[in-house]
Amino acid sequence: TPGIRPLIAGNWKMHGTLRDAAALAEAVRAGAPAGVDLLICPPFVHLHVVAAAMLGQPVAVGGQDCHAAAKGAHTGDVAAVMLRDVGATHVILGHSERRADHGETDAGVRAKAEAAIGAGLTPIICVGETLAQREAGEAEAVVAAQVKGSLPEGFLAAGGVVAYEPVWAIGTGRTPTEADIAAIHAVLRGLTSPATRLLYGGSVKPANAKAILGLPHVDGALVGGASLVAADFLAIAGAA
Ligand code: PEP
Repeated sequence: TPGIRPLIAGNWKMHGTLRDAAALAEAVRAGAPAGVDLLICPPFVHLHVVAAAMLGQPVAVGGQDCHAAAKGAHTGDVAAVMLRDVGATHVILGHSERRADHGETDAGVRAKAEAAIGAGLTPIICVGETLAQREAGEAEAVVAAQVKGSLPEGFLAAGGVVAYEPVWAIGTGRTPTEADIAAIHAVLRGLTSPATRLLYGGSVKPANAKAILGLPHVDGALVGGASLVAADFLAIAGAA
C-alpha cells in the first residue's frame, strides 16, 4: 500500500536452542535489506538474549503471546510489560495455534491487545478461516467477525497490525489464490484504516513472496517455517 513500509515478521514458534536463536538472529541482522522493516519473534526464553543482541540494530523483536493482566497469579504466563522490559516492541496475538491449543477467543485476544498497547507494544492480531469455513463460502464473514471481536478501541491509532492467516495455509505449503488473498485484504482494509499494516501469513516462502507481497493491501508477511532459515527469511524480505 502506498505510504506503508512493508513489515516482514518471523514467528519462530517453539523451535531451537538458545544458541540456534542467537545464530539465526545474527544472520538476519547481518543480511537485513534496506527499505523494509524486519521483526523476529523467538520463544519467550530466548527473547531477552535476542533483544539484547538487536539493540540499536534494524531488526525488531517481539513476543508470540502475552497475558491480559499486568501481573499476578498466572502460572506460566508472561505479561506485556515484561516483554517490553526485556526489549520487545511487538507481540503476536490470537495466532490460530493459540486459538486452537489454548482456547483463545476474540474477547480474550482483545483484552491481550489492550494490555499490549498499554505496555507500549505493537500488537499483531491474527485472523483467518478454517478450511471448512472457506469451503462453505464463509471466509470473509469469519475474518470480519474476528476483526470486529479482537481489535480493541485505540488499536488503529496505536499502529496495531492485522495478519490474515488462513488456518489451512499455515505450515501446509498451500496458499489461497492471489484473488482470494486480495479479496480478504480488501475487507481488512475496509475494517481498519488506510495506514494499518495488513500482513499475509500461511506458507509464505521465497518462491511465492513476490507475487503475494505485490497484491493490493498486502503490506508484509508473517512467516513461520521459512523464518527459521535465515536465507529464506531474507529472500522474502528482499521481495518486499
Ligand atoms: C504462521 O504460523 O504464522 C505461519 C505463517 O506459518 P507458515 O509460514 O509455516 O505457514
